Amino acid sequence: MLDFHKLLNLPGIKIIKVDDSQPNKILIYVETTEKSTPCHVCGKLINKRHGKDKERKVKHLPMIENDVFIIYQPNRYICDECDNHPTTTATPSWHTKHSAHTNAYERRIIIDLVNSTLVDVAVKSNLTTESVLGILDRLVAKEIDWSTIEYIGALAIDEIALKKGYKDYVTLISCRVNGVIRILAVLDGRKKSTIKAFLKSIPKKLKKTVEAI
Ligand SMILES: [Zn+2]
Repeated sequence: MLDFHKLLNLPGIKIIKVDDSQPNKILIYVETTEKSTPCHVCGKLINKRHGKDKERKVKHLPMIENDVFIIYQPNRYICDECDNHPTTTATPSWHTKHSAHTNAYERRIIIDLVNSTLVDVAVKSNLTTESVLGILDRLVAKEIDWSTIEYIGALAIDEIALKKGYKDYVTLISCRVNGVIRILAVLDGRKKSTIKAFLKSIPKKLKKTVEAI
């Protein structure tokens, strides 16, 4: 039997309801199962629940020609140690605050941009070019957590031409291990110095795992 949780690959969720009543669209209602979140003021882990935040509807990777949307209400937690007892909304690891997509979906869009154009990718994904640029902005800002990477394998450096608005180019640095592409960085621009600086920042023990192409 198909394991729907495994297929979605979104850690820390419980599926509540699946609505496939609309054509080419699957709505998956989930609850997040985390038990705590860092207080946004003091940074301490807090586990006292304080209701839920408003509903989020985020686009996930498509499934057999169907658009997939994950719908959830993030849990809120209250901090007893900070003055005025501030509340913090828990954002699951598979979602980035203020984004209308899951992180997995955003990574897919960036990879689709290689050897394609902004407009093409937007049209094929049923997104506006502005939302594709928004995805790029979020990923450019993201710092890589090297501790989550054990092996780099084949390293690829791809220039993506945007020619839209303020940004002309971004550089995608990715690696491929066992056929799976992983984004290491999305760099603003295409300057050699920026790329060199990033490559220099790869920790020594990981550098050894880069395979010559
Ligand atoms: Zn606090």
